[in-house]
Amino acid sequence: MSEIAVCPGSYDPVTNGHLDIISRAAALYDEVVVAVVNHPVRKGKTLFTAEERVAFIEEAVRDMKGVRAESFRTLVVEFAERVGAKVIVKGLRAISDFEYELEMNQLNRQQAPQIESIYLMASPKYSFLSSSGVKELAIFGGEIDNLVPPIVAKRLQEELKR
Ligand code: ADP
Repeated sequence: MSEIAVCPGSYDPVTNGHLDIISRAAALYDEVVVAVVNHPVRKGKTLFTAEERVAFIEEAVRDMKGVRAESFRTLVVEFAERVGAKVIVKGLRAISDFEYELEMNQLNRQQAPQIESIYLMASPKYSFLSSSGVKELAIFGGEIDNLVPPIVAKRLQEELKR
């Protein structure tokens, strides 16, 4: 039976840090479903629609075997069950991610104890890379080409000019 993992997040937009975690997850599991949150309760309005966020990821993971992206508007654990995943893989950056992830982990565990969450430590070069940081850089005309895939850099620059 093939082992499936889910990598959930807002991905507004996907960064090279996310892609690092996704490709590392792809090396560990047969299939990886990148799950794009389509109901951002905690983070307010997104810059890109769920469709755009999914399309950016699909483009960026084209060469990664067994990886696809999908949006969802249910509990993460429900999404995981629906796609047949037993594992949720998340990236951990600095200490700031830890508290939030610990809370989410306990909530998810209550909902679905059979689904395990696995945490991959951020690669040092991406430890301080976030979607919100990239958006802020882009607003002020900063260099983002080495932080996000080319399609995202292009669309960010267009979007923020408006
Ligand atoms: P963000 O905090 O950038 O909005 P998301 O909600 O899209 O991130 O995050 C999805 C997952 O990716 C989370 O598990 C988050 O910790 C992880 N992640 C985000 N950026 C990085 C990075 N630069 N390196 C490793 N993991 C990351």
